[in-house]
Amino acid sequence: MARKNSGTARKIFLFILVCAAGVAVWMGGCDKIASKFRSKLKTQPAKKERVARRAPPGTSVSGPKLAIILDDLGNDKEAAEAVFALHYPLTISVLPYHAHSTEIAEEAQQRGLEVMLHLPMRAVANETPEAHQLEPGMSSDAVARELKGMLESVPTATGVNNHEGSQATTDAKLMAELMPLLKQRDLFFVDSRTTAATVAFEAAEQAGVRSGFRNVPFLDDVQDVAAIRKELQLAMRGAKEKGAAIAIGHPHAETLRALKEELPRAEAEGVRLVLVSELVK
Ligand SMILES: [Zn+2]
Repeated sequence: MARKNSGTARKIFLFILVCAAGVAVWMGGCDKIASKFRSKLKTQPAKKERVARRAPPGTSVSGPKLAIILDDLGNDKEAAEAVFALHYPLTISVLPYHAHSTEIAEEAQQRGLEVMLHLPMRAVANETPEAHQLEPGMSSDAVARELKGMLESVPTATGVNNHEGSQATTDAKLMAELMPLLKQRDLFFVDSRTTAATVAFEAAEQAGVRSGFRNVPFLDDVQDVAAIRKELQLAMRGAKEKGAAIAIGHPHAETLRALKEELPRAEAEGVRLVLVSELVK
């Protein structure tokens, strides 16, 4: 009798156990469905495909980092679309007052790319001046006025780098007028280093602006895919040696093709591609 009773108890216990497991599996499934639905809800309003910002598998968060800025966007919508189609966390720097400056700046931000104002500054040769650019000798009011207008044209900019500027960035007075304005607006600054005599980075640091500078060669001084791939490899090596590298290129077809071919290798080599705001200090 006692044996029979204990057998029944065991059966009931097993039955409860099976039921509990069933309920757990069912709830887990529900949870999965719910979370799928939640994530669908979250992603639904953003129609544009966003760039994944998570580190790819196999790369360490503390490993070498590479930020790539693509300058001179603003004129060419197709070039911007080609950059978006790469689906890498790239930073684009947009020239103000060009045909598609605002549109490109806004779309890039929606897609999860970082946007900078590509601030035109006087070059020594001044061969291709922009309609609006910073000139040595400008009053601080004029600098403030120019910056305000340019930022209205590139409204999603979170930082600034210089376009040209081989003369303007050597002008300590002009740089000392600009940098506090960036600080006020909580914009970071990257010195494109278009001349070795630049004082822009020092001026930014002095004004307490989060800043950095291009610390590897320009990617596409020579517009040839093989040459640009070599520069990208140099940039990756630079990132490994220095811990972090900021590279600058342009949205030329050759540059974009070289990026497409070379960037998967960066990931495989453990160099993490990041937005430039991650590297400014
Ligand atoms: Zn430029």
